[in-house]
Amino acid sequence: MDFEEKLKLVGSSSRVEDPEEGSGGKIAGPCGELPVYNAVVSGGRSIRLLKSLLTTVCENNCAYCGIRWGKDSRRVTFQPEEMADAFLRLHETGACEGLFLSSGVAGGGVHTQDRLIETAEILRRRGYRGYLHLKIMPGAERDQVEQAMRLASRVSINLEAPTAECLAAIAPRKQADVLYNPLVWIEAIRKSTDPTGTWNGRWPSSSTQFVVGAAGESDRDLLRMAERLRREAGLARVYYSTFDPAEGTPLENAPAENPVRSFRLYQADFLIRDYGFGADELLPGGDRLNLNVDPKLLYARRCLIEEPVDIDRADRPALLRIPGIGPRTVQSILETRRKGSRIRTIEDLKRLGVPVNRAAEFILINGKKPIQQMRLF
Ligand code: SF4
Repeated sequence: MDFEEKLKLVGSSSRVEDPEEGSGGKIAGPCGELPVYNAVVSGGRSIRLLKSLLTTVCENNCAYCGIRWGKDSRRVTFQPEEMADAFLRLHETGACEGLFLSSGVAGGGVHTQDRLIETAEILRRRGYRGYLHLKIMPGAERDQVEQAMRLASRVSINLEAPTAECLAAIAPRKQADVLYNPLVWIEAIRKSTDPTGTWNGRWPSSSTQFVVGAAGESDRDLLRMAERLRREAGLARVYYSTFDPAEGTPLENAPAENPVRSFRLYQADFLIRDYGFGADELLPGGDRLNLNVDPKLLYARRCLIEEPVDIDRADRPALLRIPGIGPRTVQSILETRRKGSRIRTIEDLKRLGVPVNRAAEFILINGKKPIQQMRLF
């Protein structure tokens, strides 16, 4: 089998990290249906990303996974040299611009991590200076994590579920602390060790992924864990992968999760990361987000109708809670106020880029609710 056939088999037998880096669908390129995806990587750059596994052999038995141990399927394995070669050839032809490299666990986490590191070393030694996302394997040791960090643009380890109980239900051979600890090591290394000797002089960012809808996990547990990860492990991104049952797995007859749930989780997650919301504020009356309404709008209807935010006086955290207003608009409002100008009319707000229709119900301009002025018109 040549490397393209092997790559196609990897792409068809496993869903390699679907939502990672905001990827869209598979791209049919000059080499046909290779697992190459449009992806947005750090800094908002959009690239064609080859997503592959070093091997589709795995000794773990995660209940949702199409290449789990014991499943009858055709397996492929790349040697590190072979994978590096295959990627560089595709890269030279322009078929892909970056590599996301993961692996089934074969011969233990330490051994598998060594093979991932070896592949990355070959790529960097041969002059590749592009985007490289390396997975950290369950069971990898701390010095391996550091080696991977010296070679990668991003590293990640998938937590899969937000609690030990949920993890045990879908990934019985994985242990929550074995998955969690490397994320904390990554942050500790970033904070305590000089990045001299990394491929580009900088430590990579880190991320994780949850499977949404396979383990009966609650949105509250997912968002609380995301909060904790940002606090303790400095994660750049948390990905929410919508569960879709794979044939021949113990969960093949389980219902697929509604993708809107993952969409709402991403919205809530951004509100926690960039807007200063707490997970519990977004889930006041239950454990699941409302699928029909944006979580920020729901918060505003609950908390800001009676106590609207005074645009001319409120501080940054309060301004960020207004629907339609994001960090950039808050910056413009604060700069306007710093220059001594006052925001007195809807027109003033519009000039600052505020979508007044969305915000009007929840704010005061010049001491009054603009919604009343708008209704008069
Ligand atoms: S560790 Fe689990 S999710 Fe990863 S490849 Fe193996 S069975 Fe699949």
